Amino acid sequence: MKKRYILFNAVILVSALIIFLVVSVFIVLSTNTRNMESEIKTYLSIIEEEYDGTNMKKCADNIHDANEKIRVTFISSDGSVLYDTSEITESNHLSRPEIENVGTVTHRYSSTTNVNMFYVASYIPSNSTYIRVSMPETSVTDMSYSLIWSGLATIVVISIISFLAITLMTNKAIEPLKDEVSKLSSIVGEAPEYTGNDIDKLSFQIDKVRDLIEDKISSVEREKKKVDYIIDNIRQGLIILNGNGDIIIINKMACDILNKDRKDLLDKNYIYSFINNDISNTIDKCMNENYSQNVGYRNGEREYIINVSTLDASFVKNNNKYGAVLFIYDITEEKKTEKMKTDFFANASHELKSPLTSIIGYQQMISQGIIDDKKEIDDAIEKTIKEATRMDQIITEMLELSKLEANNSEEKTNVSLVKATEDILNSYDSVLKNRNIKVITNYSNFEAYISNNDLYHLLRNLIDNAIKYNKDNGSINITIDSKNRFFEICDSGIGISSIHLDRIYERFYRVDKAKSKEKGGTGLGLAIVKHICTNNNIKITVESELGVGTKFIVKF
Ligand code: ADP
Repeated sequence: MKKRYILFNAVILVSALIIFLVVSVFIVLSTNTRNMESEIKTYLSIIEEEYDGTNMKKCADNIHDANEKIRVTFISSDGSVLYDTSEITESNHLSRPEIENVGTVTHRYSSTTNVNMFYVASYIPSNSTYIRVSMPETSVTDMSYSLIWSGLATIVVISIISFLAITLMTNKAIEPLKDEVSKLSSIVGEAPEYTGNDIDKLSFQIDKVRDLIEDKISSVEREKKKVDYIIDNIRQGLIILNGNGDIIIINKMACDILNKDRKDLLDKNYIYSFINNDISNTIDKCMNENYSQNVGYRNGEREYIINVSTLDASFVKNNNKYGAVLFIYDITEEKKTEKMKTDFFANASHELKSPLTSIIGYQQMISQGIIDDKKEIDDAIEKTIKEATRMDQIITEMLELSKLEANNSEEKTNVSLVKATEDILNSYDSVLKNRNIKVITNYSNFEAYISNNDLYHLLRNLIDNAIKYNKDNGSINITIDSKNRFFEICDSGIGISSIHLDRIYERFYRVDKAKSKEKGGTGLGLAIVKHICTNNNIKITVESELGVGTKFIVKF
């Protein structure tokens, strides 16, 4: 390519010089011809002036002596040569072009002198004589030859110089390009294959480097996508800060926790995103020394623990300050569970303490003889048994709950909804009769894939509540729908006010504690129901109107 480039330049230069030379030769030749024509005419007019009809020889010789290349011929009107400064020829000259066109300069080959000649003639009528002057063209031709040779020599010299100059300049011009190519090659980890000066090979090298760069870019993009995918799928929030405190990496979870778009957080200082004194002090410490600490952070309802640690990596260091990596753990659920457990223990202790206190009280009264009447003693014993039974029921249901929490249910099978409902209703037969509660059923049976025990517990608690919180002479509608796979129980009982509806599944939560206690309730029934539903992916919903009734829909 470089050779072609140099050759191209040289051809243009040489062509230009040749054209210049040709034009110059042409101009010089035509100028010279014109000069010689005027010179020859001048000689002719000198002779014309001097010639008086007698001094033919003198006039001719004067001119010839002054310039021996000039030939002067006197020709008579019949065409014979009267005098010639060259040898006299016998031929008739009347047909010569210069004689036929007197006054006009003609060029032609002279057989007498054997060279190309300029001719001009005039006719002197007073002496009936033609005067002809001629001179050889050789001086003009010689001049043009010397011009051509010196021109060609100049062209050769200029061509050589310009070839060397162009080669030198091209090499110089390529040098920075070569440097760039080898720098690029070393960036992509490839030794340049070609280090010469050929532009073609250099452009091949550039193409190769470009391909390698494209490969590197796409592999970097692939790696980035992988890293983004991994960090976005970490279940904790992850933020990486550089030494200035700017967020340089943030995952999706962290953006969700901060309720902001990634583009609003990335490359911004962390103080614009979230800040409290503890966090900023910890981050500050991490950036100055090797340090790691947990700090609490609250955003609305949710609670987090942020683990802040020093990040000693070159890509985060700034002005000798370390970067920091923040892992954000959502502890809201843990806290809730913790609170639930604390509440549960407090409630359970309280629930067990009251019957126990009653039992101890009755037994002390009997043992200390405070009551000695047979009826009073029987009454105290009956109350003791009732409280003990209640304690037993609470403990049984607590054990049931802890079993459900551990997800320790029996093996799942396909259990018939109608059979389970009918079995439970049969066990409540006498209660239903005593309180004159009517049960209306609308069955289209289906089977649920669940442990037998769980299904019976679930349905028993709902049926038990529908009876317990019903009015005497009330009704219970039970629908089992195989098409939509749901169980629905709707009672005509006391209903639940909407302010309590959200809390009825909490452990020991009772809308009316006294009423529940009087009906033998523990406040754990619906907590058990909810647990069974959660463990078995069953959806439970409740609708209720105070004084009208309550409807539970269990969708399998
Ligand atoms: P309990 O043992 O007290 O019945 P549950 O957990 O079964 O406890 O129910 C929680 C509370 O929800 C009950 O104390 C009661 O106030 C209310 N409740 C549950 N089912 C019904 C219902 N069918 N009708 C009215 N209130 C109900």
